[in-house]
Amino acid sequence: MSVLVYIEQAEGKFKKSGFEAVSYAKAIADAQGTHLTAISIGNVGEGDLKELGKYGASKVLNVSTDQLKSFVNQAYASVIVDAATKENADIVVLSNSFSGKGLAPRIAVKLKAGLIDGAVTLPQLEDGKFSVKKTAFSGKAFAITEITAANKVIALNPNAFGVKESPVEVAIEDFAPEVKATDFAAIVKEIVRATDKVSLPDAELVVSAGRGLKGPENWGMIEELAELLGAATACSKPVSDADWRPHSEHVGQTGITVSPNLYLAIGISGAIQHLAGISSSKVIVVINKDPEAPFFKVADYGIVGDAFEVVPQLIEALKAHKG
Ligand code: FAD
Repeated sequence: MSVLVYIEQAEGKFKKSGFEAVSYAKAIADAQGTHLTAISIGNVGEGDLKELGKYGASKVLNVSTDQLKSFVNQAYASVIVDAATKENADIVVLSNSFSGKGLAPRIAVKLKAGLIDGAVTLPQLEDGKFSVKKTAFSGKAFAITEITAANKVIALNPNAFGVKESPVEVAIEDFAPEVKATDFAAIVKEIVRATDKVSLPDAELVVSAGRGLKGPENWGMIEELAELLGAATACSKPVSDADWRPHSEHVGQTGITVSPNLYLAIGISGAIQHLAGISSSKVIVVINKDPEAPFFKVADYGIVGDAFEVVPQLIEALKAHKG
């Protein structure tokens, strides 16, 4: 028995959520008294693969065939399942990211495993039971879920556990399982980025604005602030519905889920549907002129003030700091 963790990469580099998944999986492996194997799919350099040892992976299976260079949901799920079988892993961990949400159920079906998606805590192991706290109803509630199956798949919510170092000696092993042609029923031919700015779902810093900005002509200061911070820009649903901003920036229950280290919300009321998309942000800062705005209830820091006064001052302060 062992634990297997799948680490996502983008353009040959691991994502922070991947290091978090390794840290989490290592804690599970320690609690189970077993070792942790990581699997990387795509062309990741040896230096980056070795870095996984810093977070507790004692073995890394490296899949670097051209066929699997780009993410293919079905094929990646099959490869991860082959790795789990080879490693005799009864627990598979991955990040509950955009691609993780597609992979986890496929892996669970193939392994006849119990699935917990959106996990926010380590498993509780009491009286032979294996229970994990997870988010439910778009982050409005938590559910304590017990897995009764022998095999378990856990998709960890980004930012729920954090990246923790636990260095071990790491061995890199090439792994080239045969993948069936039927696993390539739908393949990515080309990725055309809508923007060359920071991708919103992966952003570490997000500057988001709402209807309090009054109109699209006022987004210049939001973009300037985001650029100074190296942040992605986001918005509330009414803003994208009104075509003030593109729909790709709409955050919330019906939009994108983000889990940055910093979510800066400007002129957004904090409706529950908006909060559903940002609740796993590490630090939330709210700027709103209404001290009763619901967003302040979930904020780590709040500024009660007019965005048209506060944001330009923030920009000046950042420029001065950078200068
Ligand atoms: P408003 O509610 O109009 O709030 C504007 C805020 O700006 C106010 O708090 C105000 O005090 C403040 N403000 C005004 N002027 C200034 C100023 N000068 N300086 C500083 N602050 C100022 N919404 C989402 O965002 N994402 C979703 O995914 C989503 N999904 C939904 C799904 C359903 C089924 C439904 C019914 C609704 C959904 N909504 C969603 C809409 C949601 O309920 C809210 O209506 C929406 O989030 C409000 O957007 P807002 O905060 O930008 O606007």
